Amino acid sequence: MSLSAEYDPNNIFAKIVRGEMPSVKVFEDEIALAFMDIFPQSEGHTLVIPRKSKATNLLSADAAELGPLIERVQRVANGVVKALSPDGVRVMQINGAPAGQTVFHLHFHIIPVFEGTPLKRHAGERADPARLESLAAKIRAGIAAK
Ligand code: 5GP
Repeated sequence: MSLSAEYDPNNIFAKIVRGEMPSVKVFEDEIALAFMDIFPQSEGHTLVIPRKSKATNLLSADAAELGPLIERVQRVANGVVKALSPDGVRVMQINGAPAGQTVFHLHFHIIPVFEGTPLKRHAGERADPARLESLAAKIRAGIAAK
């Protein structure tokens, strides 16, 4: 999908926002929703998406929505770090299919990095649902403790 493609209201993240598709949530408020990536690049890979935006990517987003959204990204990233104590954390955001974007609803990846454990490939291997639930429980507690 090109950088300037129209927003599809039936994309998978829009369905997650509307509750039409399940997700393992770790945070939600009126601005954003955060949930576990089901094809994680590392243990604790979390996605943060705007609830109301119709932006396919960062470039087409309304500038006014970005400040509140990035605050949620920071809050969730701090919660992930508190919960899982990674050695580093990658905050990633991809624009356009040629760059690797696969879901066309603006989102940020929070990818904990553990020294000595290579990241898995992007949108590759499906996680064990029970493992995602247990990581999510820790991350929810980490966010609440911040
Ligand atoms: P993108 O490639 O657009 O930057 O990132 C999309 C992310 O969404 C990928 O990391 C992929 O693993 C994840 N993903 C794709 N489909 C689903 C889904 O149905 N549920 C969840 N939780 N994550 C998904």
